Amino acid sequence: MDTVEQPTPLRWAAPDVAWQRQLSQAIRDPDTLIKRLGLPAQALRGARDGHALFSICVPEAYLARMAPGEPNDPLLRQVLPQGAETDVTPGYVNDPLEEAEHRPAPGLIHKYAGRVLLIASPNCAINCRYCFRRHFPYGDNSPSRAQWQQALDYLRNDTSLIEAILSGGDPLAANDRQLAWLVEQLGAIPHLKRLRIHTRLPVVIPDRIDANLLAWLGATRLQKVMVLHINHANEIDDAVINACARLKQAGVTLLNQSVLLRDVNDDAATLATLSERLFEAGVLPYYLHVLDPVQGAAHFDVPDSEARTLIATLRQHLPGFLMPRLVREIPGEASKTPL
Ligand SMILES: *Cc1c(COP(=O)(O)O)cnc(C)c1O
Ligand code: SF4
Repeated sequence: MDTVEQPTPLRWAAPDVAWQRQLSQAIRDPDTLIKRLGLPAQALRGARDGHALFSICVPEAYLARMAPGEPNDPLLRQVLPQGAETDVTPGYVNDPLEEAEHRPAPGLIHKYAGRVLLIASPNCAINCRYCFRRHFPYGDNSPSRAQWQQALDYLRNDTSLIEAILSGGDPLAANDRQLAWLVEQLGAIPHLKRLRIHTRLPVVIPDRIDANLLAWLGATRLQKVMVLHINHANEIDDAVINACARLKQAGVTLLNQSVLLRDVNDDAATLATLSERLFEAGVLPYYLHVLDPVQGAAHFDVPDSEARTLIATLRQHLPGFLMPRLVREIPGEASKTPL
């Protein structure tokens, strides 16, 4: 939504705020990433091959939570390309969720009852190697202001809609003027009750939760839910805990969804520690997704039978409220499918 103009006066003119500076200084090439972490040179070839398909992006604040010299670090594995990304795997596709089919207006996806997804930003603050959006046609989905009006008209006309979900990319990669404008428009639609934001930015760059963001978030009449995307307890450092505290203070309900990833979080002890750590940050586990079959990510797959066993083991260790729901996204289904 880079081209959205502002109908309201600018309330904050700070294009170069701290989080944007951190994002612009993120590591974006394989050589730097490998050098900075002191990794063995043999990692470089696969990293370059994967990078050519889907570029690297790792902000410093996220890099700082990785163990130097450790090729198997669970955070590194999420962002360092592997040679296996170039493998062509049968059954793995470019648009596994067939989202192209549910677009009544630019930037708008309506596939769940009562809820719509608004693609508020085509960009992310990190490039996750397992991402189902790694082949997403973002260029076609950055609406102009006139196109946003089409999406907003659609929301105004469908009184069955209760919840607007800001999605992406990462919606919080948009700047606060744009988000404040959009959320103000949404708040003026009487039948909408909730604003949900699916984002990884508070985890990747905790400074994203700054006064500018809290101003528009605090101003809306809509009830607010934020679904964070955290896959491993090591992602939750003190800065993330503080960012979560600021969000809670602004009245945001915090949930988390994870993706079950081979050699990142595919054992019960790791998942139990994640749930405990989330709760320490004031976040409740919501979903544990099995991998979407996106081309280039097959090496992250965990078979269903193994996933079910993991969940059964986890249940023996955790209270019910710390148990994520194990789900799969199936194209054309009106909800996620429990495994
Ligand atoms: C699944 C999903 C939703 C909506 O599903 P709920 O069951 O309402 O949580 C919205 N956004 C994203 C990114 C999702 O993955
Ligand atoms: S959409 Fe989410 S999972 Fe995909 S690259 Fe962006 S932050 Fe990572």
